[in-house]
Amino acid sequence: MKLPLHWRMLIALVAAVVAGVLFGDSEAFLQACGMVGALFLNALKMLIVPLILAALMNGLIGGAEQGGLGKLGALTFGFYVGTGLLAILTGLAWANLLTPGIVNGLPAAPLLGLSGDANAIVAQVQEKGTQDLWDVILRLIPTNPIGAAATGDMLGLVTFGLLFGWALSQLPGNLRDTQAAFWKGVYEAMVRIAALVMRAAPIGVFAIVTGTVAKTGIAALQPLAVFMLAVVAGLLTHAFVILPLVLKLVARVPAYGLHRAMTPALLTAFSTSSSNATLPLTMDCIENKAKVPRRVSGFVLPIGANVNTDGSALYECVAAIFIAQAYGLHLSFGAQFTVVALALITAIGVAGIPSASLVAITVILSAIGLPLEGVGLILAVDRVLDMCRTALNVLGDASATVVVARLSGEDGVLDQPALKSTG
Ligand code: ASP
Repeated sequence: MKLPLHWRMLIALVAAVVAGVLFGDSEAFLQACGMVGALFLNALKMLIVPLILAALMNGLIGGAEQGGLGKLGALTFGFYVGTGLLAILTGLAWANLLTPGIVNGLPAAPLLGLSGDANAIVAQVQEKGTQDLWDVILRLIPTNPIGAAATGDMLGLVTFGLLFGWALSQLPGNLRDTQAAFWKGVYEAMVRIAALVMRAAPIGVFAIVTGTVAKTGIAALQPLAVFMLAVVAGLLTHAFVILPLVLKLVARVPAYGLHRAMTPALLTAFSTSSSNATLPLTMDCIENKAKVPRRVSGFVLPIGANVNTDGSALYECVAAIFIAQAYGLHLSFGAQFTVVALALITAIGVAGIPSASLVAITVILSAIGLPLEGVGLILAVDRVLDMCRTALNVLGDASATVVVARLSGEDGVLDQPALKSTG
């Protein structure tokens, strides 16, 4: 009997931690892991652009055919903003409760000892693009959609995809039908390639995580333990209390049914730290296990993977408060409000790739007047937390899909009969 994929991945994960600790100093082993991990990631990334476009086209054309695009859109964005805000407030509560930046009543900055090295890394982060708010807005409309696809500018690509899909849905009969058939074909082909790639997932996960464990080490994580605890507590609260409540009360599905259905995708998100790279698997789980029809998933998921990032928004908030605390800054209510608002807006611009939140954090830090070198404090633990927040990002997207499907009257989602009144 063949072990289900998520078990094989979990075993790979545990084996990777052991191997990372045991063989972390073997140059040749790490190099081999690096190569295998990069191949796996490349294969996943290869699918992103065609998959996002094809899924959007399917979703938009299908949605328009059933006459529900306006409602679908309003529901989707309402859900994104609502749950994003809940996530950030959860993070804020945990950061104020655990005060990770204060040790024995004193700001922790000296304890955490920023070295010259940290400054160099911060410069790197800045160089990556200290995008301000205006930049995020500007990227919403790409000057060249092919360029956006080629450079991985997902925000721009999604805007173009939305416009293109909407325009297609407006075309007369056979013009629209040809396009609908074409994009359906592209989507089906990509799904088949994705299934092929996923067979290699346990090997990919093993290779990637081994490298991370070998690089970060375990002792290096200690000084930032409370910060990590605050982030993880926040993420867990959102994943296991708030989202289940929303699923139960709003969508009226079993509170944890979705968690079970999404396990392979969540583990992939956890190991790749990229919700974009996880998208093929997220789609597979949501369609085949959670039984959400493609009309909804094709619309909600590709947008969500780039726009709806509950985990990242929560992380940004905790990180900014932590750094403020570490520098001995007491944030007023107004300043905390600024952090919340900025986390909500910049999280939209956080790409579904590893470490993307670091850039957003620099935006928040400069907005509240903190030195950007504060980012150096959290770099050491960023990768591990990135794994956790990415899993929540994916769970948030999946929840959005289920809620929107249920509220638009779909039957059979998580094996539940359609809601009686759809309002
Ligand atoms: N790695 C996250 C994702 O892919 C983004 C981030 O918060 O850095 O969803």
